[in-house]
Amino acid sequence: MNSKILLNNVTDLTLYTGTNGRKYCTCKCIGCTQRNDEDNYAYQGNIKQIEKIIRKLPNLKNAYLLGNPDVSVDPEFCNLAANKFIENGKKVMFSTSGFNGVETLKKLTKNIDLSKIEYVSLSVDTINEDKLKKLKGNKNITLEQIDEVINYCKKRKIPVKIQPTLWRINQDDYQELIEYFYKKHGLNWYTFHTGSFEAIGDEKIDILKHIEPEKSVEIREKLIRIAQKYNLKMNIPKVFITEEEYDLYDNSNTYCRVGGRGLQIWLTRDALKCTFCPILTKVNKNYFFNIDDEDIKLLNPKLDCPIANNCISNDLKQISEDNKGNIIFQNNKKYFNICRYYSKKIKY
Ligand code: SF4
Ligand code: SF4
Repeated sequence: MNSKILLNNVTDLTLYTGTNGRKYCTCKCIGCTQRNDEDNYAYQGNIKQIEKIIRKLPNLKNAYLLGNPDVSVDPEFCNLAANKFIENGKKVMFSTSGFNGVETLKKLTKNIDLSKIEYVSLSVDTINEDKLKKLKGNKNITLEQIDEVINYCKKRKIPVKIQPTLWRINQDDYQELIEYFYKKHGLNWYTFHTGSFEAIGDEKIDILKHIEPEKSVEIREKLIRIAQKYNLKMNIPKVFITEEEYDLYDNSNTYCRVGGRGLQIWLTRDALKCTFCPILTKVNKNYFFNIDDEDIKLLNPKLDCPIANNCISNDLKQISEDNKGNIIFQNNKKYFNICRYYSKKIKY
């Protein structure tokens, strides 16, 4: 596909700015999908690359900064990058594990027009501190620190959302987590993700197994009720849907087919390396493209995505109808695996 047409459509991007010479992030999250890009070790992006992105994406509105890969690795550069986007009329969002608490936030937001920060997203998967430390692979992240970050943002009117990823290990923690942040801080914005493409090729990480279909539908239903009860803005993960939902599911207009909204970009030594789907490029690196390419190869699934089931842990693939994880029966009910990026396309 002609790159100019495609890049003109991009309104949102997620940016990985480099690793600032480090092999690892500030955390060692066991479900991390972001540090896997080994080509990018020891490279730090620069402002010229940010300027190039702004030139190449004329309709960009929002830049979501994931940093190096977490913003706490190099908040100074993330701050410079954010300032550059803002100077050019864009809004910015930051995502952080909460590492180094308020100190990270101070550096990130230095001299920034705070009204241009769409939100700060905190990836907190559980409020059980032992589990949190285990998932983050870091003993230094505490709930107290996360509370301080939230208070810091609230005082400055920076919106905060909590972004938990659910695996089997924390599949029953979501209610307690919402009630904690809602009652303590009045936070009303939650975007849930379902983990497990994190576990591709690494099934030995037993606790990262995917939530079973029946359980995942139960969680969705409960989350809908909680969202209604507290009037929350919530993104509810849909990776498995029921037979009834499948009949209403519109997969004719998929994310990768229309490509052009949520572009992911890694600042690397040789290129601005891009993809519209991190699952696809994790499975097949040939789908990465350079922002300078004239012709861009996109996957164009006619029906269900042929690689979406790569998100499913092997134990679920084994009990599926085709051994690939596409259709699973549990308690006489049929569940379909769908691409997590299209979940909003279900027509109710
Ligand atoms: S903080 Fe983010 S980038 Fe860093 S290890 Fe954890 S998931 Fe990966
Ligand atoms: S998982 Fe498949 S359908 Fe979904 S965005 Fe990726 S390539 Fe497209």
